[in-house]
Amino acid sequence: MEFRTLAIHAGQGPDPAYGAVMTPVYQTSTFAFKGVNQPGPFDYSRSGNPTRKALENCLAALEGGANGYVFATGMAAEATFLSIYGPGDHIIVHDDLYGGTYRLLVSVVKEKGVDVQFVNLRDEAALIKAIRPNTKLIWIETPTNPLMNLIDIEAVAKVARARGVTTICDNTFLSPYFLRPLDYGVDVVMHSTTKYINGHSDVVGGALIVNDPALAEKIGFLQNAMGTCPGPQDCFLVLRGVKTLAIRMEEHNKNALAIAHWLEKHPKVAAVLHPGLESHPQHALAKKQLKGYGGTFSFRVKGGQEEAFRLLSSLKIFTLAESLGGVESLIEHPWTMTHISMPEEVRRSIGITGDLIRISVGIEDAKDLIADLEQAFRQV
Ligand SMILES: *Cc1c(COP(=O)(O)O)cnc(C)c1O
Repeated sequence: MEFRTLAIHAGQGPDPAYGAVMTPVYQTSTFAFKGVNQPGPFDYSRSGNPTRKALENCLAALEGGANGYVFATGMAAEATFLSIYGPGDHIIVHDDLYGGTYRLLVSVVKEKGVDVQFVNLRDEAALIKAIRPNTKLIWIETPTNPLMNLIDIEAVAKVARARGVTTICDNTFLSPYFLRPLDYGVDVVMHSTTKYINGHSDVVGGALIVNDPALAEKIGFLQNAMGTCPGPQDCFLVLRGVKTLAIRMEEHNKNALAIAHWLEKHPKVAAVLHPGLESHPQHALAKKQLKGYGGTFSFRVKGGQEEAFRLLSSLKIFTLAESLGGVESLIEHPWTMTHISMPEEVRRSIGITGDLIRISVGIEDAKDLIADLEQAFRQV
């Protein structure tokens, strides 16, 4: 079945109890046994819940995976997965990524004795050189947040596969509508469902999707053992949100491209970081590997932080807030907001500086969004 059909039907059928067309919120902690030693399909909601199962199956279908697992947050998905690794293991991570993932890797995973090494994964020779006999995992995020660098996931997965190294791709920015990492040989797809998958900025959630049965079993075990699952109400909301993922992504993509082109011509803008622009250094890779670019990108304001602050405080439709992927437009300043958990020198060395602004373009009318930016730029 095609993506739009799967988004609405995968994992969901009329409810067996009363035929409810929409999957009910099974707000229960426990389930009655049919008899002594005869559990039903669910016994306790940490181990499994029908509302959660519907969402897990739907997300697995959208990513083209065999198994899906959802979590209380994106970070809960990451923490659960990374608990597989311990002292003596070596993990390679792309050197520019979501600040929260960076913090988890450096302040939690590394502290445990896991050797975490940051490598520029756009450089295949550097990746091959970094792989050691104890390398267990390569962590990919594409496009990177907030610098919009792309990683050739097919190339990285090929190098990893040949050496028996597992790969995981954080696909939060594009959603399976624009990129399906499993199709390119990646082993695990991770999502913060908080963003595009839910799309309405009213839930935090995470997901892991896999094909490999051994990995699936491990993740399923950890989800139950660690208790990092979401509640049924949150699963219901994400399941409702995902039904419109395809049409939302089309609109996000269209609006973001229109704004990126407009910004590129603006005299007060120094640079626009958007993989759909011909000026993006990896535009060719973007066209080859991605079906679209999503709604989030960054740009640099001429001058510096003061000018960026002036712009941010003059907007009326864009809300100054962290997060992305909702129907409403958000704007933020990575240096002081989303990426503050990265040390200053690390931020500076990769190009997260005071002049950088990240924008999550919603699905409002692009004319209104551009008019808002135009009036705000007049204050700069
Ligand atoms: C938001 C985000 C996360 C973390 O997800 P939460 O739901 O906030 O815990 C991870 N990766 C990326 C790319 C994100 O944007």
